[in-house]
Amino acid sequence: MTEQVNLTFNDLGLPDAILKAVLELGYETPSPIQLAAIPPMMAGKDILGQAQTGTGKTAAFSLPLLANLEPEVRTVQALVLAPTRELAQQVAEAIETYGKYLKGLRVLSIYGGAAFGPQLRALERGVNVVVGTPGRIMDHLRRGTLKLDDLRTLVLDEADEMLRMGFQEDVEWIMGHVPDTRQTALLSATMPPFIRKLVDNYLEDPERIQITPKKQTVETVQQSYWLVSHHHKLDAFGHLLDRVEYDAAICFVRTRDAADELANTLRARGHAASSLHGDMQQRERDRAVDALKNGDLDIIIATDVAARGLDVPRISLVVNYDIPTDPEAYVHRIGRTGRAGREGQAILLVTPRERRLLQTIERVTSQRLDVFKLPSADEVGNRRVAALFSQIDQQLEKQDLSFYLQLVNQFLGERGNDPDLLASALLSLLQKEEDLRPKEVPNLSAPDRGRDGRRDRPERGERPERGRRRESDVPMASYRVEVGRQHGVKPGNLVGAIANEAGLESRYIGNIRLNDGFSLVDLPADVPADIFNHLKKVRVCGVPLNISRDTGPAGGDRSGRSRSYRNDRSERSDRPRTDRPRGDRPQRTPRPRDF
Ligand code: AMP
Repeated sequence: MTEQVNLTFNDLGLPDAILKAVLELGYETPSPIQLAAIPPMMAGKDILGQAQTGTGKTAAFSLPLLANLEPEVRTVQALVLAPTRELAQQVAEAIETYGKYLKGLRVLSIYGGAAFGPQLRALERGVNVVVGTPGRIMDHLRRGTLKLDDLRTLVLDEADEMLRMGFQEDVEWIMGHVPDTRQTALLSATMPPFIRKLVDNYLEDPERIQITPKKQTVETVQQSYWLVSHHHKLDAFGHLLDRVEYDAAICFVRTRDAADELANTLRARGHAASSLHGDMQQRERDRAVDALKNGDLDIIIATDVAARGLDVPRISLVVNYDIPTDPEAYVHRIGRTGRAGREGQAILLVTPRERRLLQTIERVTSQRLDVFKLPSADEVGNRRVAALFSQIDQQLEKQDLSFYLQLVNQFLGERGNDPDLLASALLSLLQKEEDLRPKEVPNLSAPDRGRDGRRDRPERGERPERGRRRESDVPMASYRVEVGRQHGVKPGNLVGAIANEAGLESRYIGNIRLNDGFSLVDLPADVPADIFNHLKKVRVCGVPLNISRDTGPAGGDRSGRSRSYRNDRSERSDRPRTDRPRGDRPQRTPRPRDF
């Protein structure tokens, strides 16, 4: 671990009210991006952070943003732009949590697809922080319902993702309509040319933060990762503990609360488990470690700080329940196993949003991690039967069984049973059938879009999940939506609306052809009926999409005025320049569910 670990949140100059909330969350030490971003942002500087989900980037910009505002003044002092409504909601919730002890703080999330009314009323009442998607934020700015005269901090979160979602022009428009005096924090996992242009044009001498951890070699421990959705993590972990062979296990989580909670859950399920974290007295920690050493405990749920340097040769399994915010911590975590020349296994649970962090870990450790395969019911059953047989072998070899032999003879003499049946009954007393013949568990793996930005092929027989289809293997079809150039629509509005409302990744949104009164969009051929019906009602530029399968030229006027836009996830270089000057969208009357 680097020397950074010695710094605590107390050293970052954050106000007490914010520190209190952070400590309550159980964060032990600031993550690298937090250490690097919080002090300059507190000093009012712009920052450019190359960081991905899972690094603690939300707190990195939220804590200083909160520290710099005055909640008692009812003006918008911080604006966060996020690519999707989910992220906007998530960030707004995080800011509310970090600011829970700031008296009077008001945070509002604003995104397309939601009714305008409540957003308008909340804005009228006065809010301090607005978090939203670019399209809707721009609408409010144009209508004058969102005023940014008092803005102190502007954050662009996941800027590259906003670009991919087609928000390029909206973001630029917003950047051009905020006061010059504000500070800007731009966070992006990658730095494509458009982001670099934004930085050059709108950021002032930014502090550049790139978390490039030192290269480390990892001990010879069998390492793998399991891609699971966030809400399947606990299930996946439970099955993993049931099926993977281990002597003692250590499982890493991010916070003290999570450690306590998970240890409680495991105990309730019959595991000998305890937590190990910085809030525990040294005595309690020692007791837990001793219990793990002597076999009274099998599983410890730990935070990074508490488990540093832990040396228990029995530990044969490390589970990274939460992917570490600092990739270097990964190296230290897996170093808890494979000690004293023994074999070790390390399994990393990764949620789809955290996949980039997995790549960073692979880069830092100069290796590819295998995909974890949960042992099948048969494998587990065979292993347990073999273990039972070897237990019986040992008993036959070591023990003087004459007393038991006498009992067996007596039993058979009195009952006249078959010896095979008697042996079976005795085995059933010793072992439960369901342990020796476990049931198959459902496939909990999230579909793997692949690493390094490339997509893997689906495993044979695997059906890609809804909304996560692969560009190459998904049959596409042309759909007609009833919003066109005359309504002021831009490809980005359609991508944003469809991606958000259908839960479809933007890369599954193909060519977009704008006509005057309608547009054509390429989408997966088998959009499920419920999503399709929902999309019919979604409004873009005030007009319901009323989506239908494209029936060809008879379906509408295509008098050669259509333009084709490729929903390119990178730069839209093929995109024609719009004739209308930037920021000159036609006025329209937005209605509920307007994008
Ligand atoms: P983010 O990268 O912002 O999406 O954060 C990923 C996760 O890390 C969130 O669940 C945060 O609550 C958590 N987190 C952020 N900072 C810390 C920290 N310093 N220590 C432990 N967990 C953290």
